[in-house]
Amino acid sequence: MPKNSIAALILNENDGKFTHEIQEIEAAALPEGDVLVRIEYSSLNYKDAMILGGIGRLVRSYPHVPGIDLAGVVEHSDCAQYMPGDSVLLTGWRVGETHWGGYAQKARVRSEWLIPLPVGFTTKQAMAIGTAGFTAMLAVMGLEKHGLNLALSTDGASEATDVLVTGASGGVGSIAVAILSQLGYRVSASTGRPEMAEYLKSLGATEIVNRHELEESSGRPLESERWSGAIDTVGGTTLARVITQLKYRASVAACGLVGGVTLETSVIPFLLRGVNLLGIDSSMQPYDMRIAAWSRLVQDLHTQKLDETTTVIGLAELTDFAKQILGGQIRGRVVVDVNA
Ligand code: NDP
Repeated sequence: MPKNSIAALILNENDGKFTHEIQEIEAAALPEGDVLVRIEYSSLNYKDAMILGGIGRLVRSYPHVPGIDLAGVVEHSDCAQYMPGDSVLLTGWRVGETHWGGYAQKARVRSEWLIPLPVGFTTKQAMAIGTAGFTAMLAVMGLEKHGLNLALSTDGASEATDVLVTGASGGVGSIAVAILSQLGYRVSASTGRPEMAEYLKSLGATEIVNRHELEESSGRPLESERWSGAIDTVGGTTLARVITQLKYRASVAACGLVGGVTLETSVIPFLLRGVNLLGIDSSMQPYDMRIAAWSRLVQDLHTQKLDETTTVIGLAELTDFAKQILGGQIRGRVVVDVNA
């Protein structure tokens, strides 16, 4: 392949029909930006699968290169912060949505969207964490900011701090379970797949909760207090049910919508238990927050646990894996080796 041409997964839309294929394109065709990155790895997130399937109209112009995160090495830079040879990573900023993203061998991006690769991670490990793991850490930090700690209890007596993670065997969920257990919490992992119990326990879950137990409304505005905190990737009726089971002053970090976007709840848990509903958005985090969250990931996530969550694929396998993620069949994280 000539030096200036690269392989890229090109998404097209024609009369509402979405198609994608790997093509060889000129690097000169990449959109504007002050840093050219030679990509080593990207990852497959739920949002990527929606984009590949044309769900949600997240992409406005075609042809398009999806891939909402990427890690690699700077090839050319017009900014003082980055030099050729620097290892960098990118999550968010609508890259892969309104700007061509990580499913290509190179990306031209704005320097302010990048951060230096955290010392302690390879580019592959950074994408094993990717947007999903970054979101999981933002959720943990959000819970901590609102009072979650190992000593939190409702009545002053010391008791174990139980934190619930829903959609636990998915990308965000798996890394949330691993981080929370590493921090010393008792982690209850909610999954719809009983066969994931061993996997979730290997990540540190202490209890497995059947997804269906949380899916249906009890009809009661408050239920027995169960959780000192929760990370919810499911939304819909699951999030509504979790809110009724939070302990006094506990918080739930709402990250996702795989179980629905409508939230029917009452004000009672907020008034009588002082619970907090925290919205987590990974895409528009300022530089300092991204650095802080990635530093915490280096500190609080064992790379051995990370390896257990990770499947590596090439660009050619994205179609199949995107269908699996939309079908709720993926375990953990899917890393995309763009040079495979
Ligand atoms: P995954 O597909 O990897 O995981 C989702 C998990 O949810 C599945 O593995 C499954 O786990 C469970 N699940 C799947 N379908 C359903 C269903 N119909 N009802 C209930 N549970 C279901 O996705 P991610 O972890 O990458 O993302 C999870 C959510 O978080 C998505 O909605 C995504 O868009 C969102 N997200 C939000 C971000 C933000 O910035 N707020 C950033 C990243 C992701 P199990 O079988 O164990 O129940």
